[in-house]
Amino acid sequence: MAVHEKTALANEDVRDHNLGLVLTALDHDGPAARAELATATGMARSALSNLSAVLLENRLVRVSAAQAERGVGRPLERLELDGSDTVLAGVYLQLDAIVTLAVDLAGRVRYENRVDALTPTGDPQPVVAQLCEAIERCRGALAAEKVTVRSLDLIIAGFVMRGSDAVRYALDFGWTDVPLKSLVAERIAPFPDGIHLAGDTQYAAFAEYSALKATDAAADLESIVYIRSATGIGGAVIADGEIFGGSKGTVFVPGHTIVDPRGKPCECGRRGCLVTVADPELLVDRAGLGDLRRASGLPAALAELVGRAAAGEQPAGTVLDDAVMWIRMIVDTAIMLAGPQMVVLGGYLADVCDRIREMPEATLDTIGVGGLTGSQAIVPARLGDVAPLLGALTLRRRRLLAAPGRGGLLG
Ligand SMILES: [Zn+2]
Repeated sequence: MAVHEKTALANEDVRDHNLGLVLTALDHDGPAARAELATATGMARSALSNLSAVLLENRLVRVSAAQAERGVGRPLERLELDGSDTVLAGVYLQLDAIVTLAVDLAGRVRYENRVDALTPTGDPQPVVAQLCEAIERCRGALAAEKVTVRSLDLIIAGFVMRGSDAVRYALDFGWTDVPLKSLVAERIAPFPDGIHLAGDTQYAAFAEYSALKATDAAADLESIVYIRSATGIGGAVIADGEIFGGSKGTVFVPGHTIVDPRGKPCECGRRGCLVTVADPELLVDRAGLGDLRRASGLPAALAELVGRAAAGEQPAGTVLDDAVMWIRMIVDTAIMLAGPQMVVLGGYLADVCDRIREMPEATLDTIGVGGLTGSQAIVPARLGDVAPLLGALTLRRRRLLAAPGRGGLLG
């Protein structure tokens, strides 16, 4: 490559980076005037006019309809994210529902749908067919608005190694090593930016983290530990504002952390994992709610368990107290090992958050952010089952915003 070609490439990279700074500032802080953007990005005003012209021309930003009034003269022109032609979709497969969500570059929801999932039989094909139907319904609805969906995040309640195209295991579905990405890809037309397969927990954690950080009380939040129990016990760590993934995405698996080396054998092949004493299915069965679980599903049985324990009924109360003790132990360990500012509890743990908060102060006084200290820094998850999709699509959007040229958004 000749020297001048390298220089041209470098200049283009610099411009893309600078365009990314402007888009990211608008995403983070909302509509802003060019002068405010110059301050926020540390760039000269003249550079800002050039960059904003490029972004306006490519319809990545637009002039905000909400004009900030100035005392005298004409109103100040503010820019806001547009990107309404750039739409990213995600589909979340869980035991009882398939949730589909599509957002545009500014994060505006463009499509949302939920269907009851088929009861899994162990054979992936019926589930894959239902998934593909949900995906095509989303793509069809957006095609009617003349919008092409660029990419698909395919998220499953299960475990996927980082960068893998197969589901390593999804116990809810009885799946081990299912090549879900190719099973879906061979049934539907390709997406320009591809299909990305991932498990649900880390993205759910990232979404909960982002929602907390957007509040005034936790504006300085950088790290959380997220523990969720719905059909097993999963978790994730957000450190320095990013998903802490370990080398294979296998970091922080609370359910298979050994709490009793002499305990019962676990389905993972070891002994005394947390799930051998506090798995939600085990709890509802112990509380005499096995029939309800089989008839109405685990979420309903867990809700009944929590309700009965709150009303002081036995054996629900004792069973839940026992579970809370184990979960508390793992929360305590996670605080000591990961040093988070906050702990977020999802699934049925959100409903027993108050009980779990009653921890020794020696542990609790190491956590906290802004106005939230000690037990106030242990909070219930708030986003429900759309969280993994929100997390995945936020990260995908931010990647495009940070380098719009590389993402193919400049004509
Ligand atoms: Zn285990």
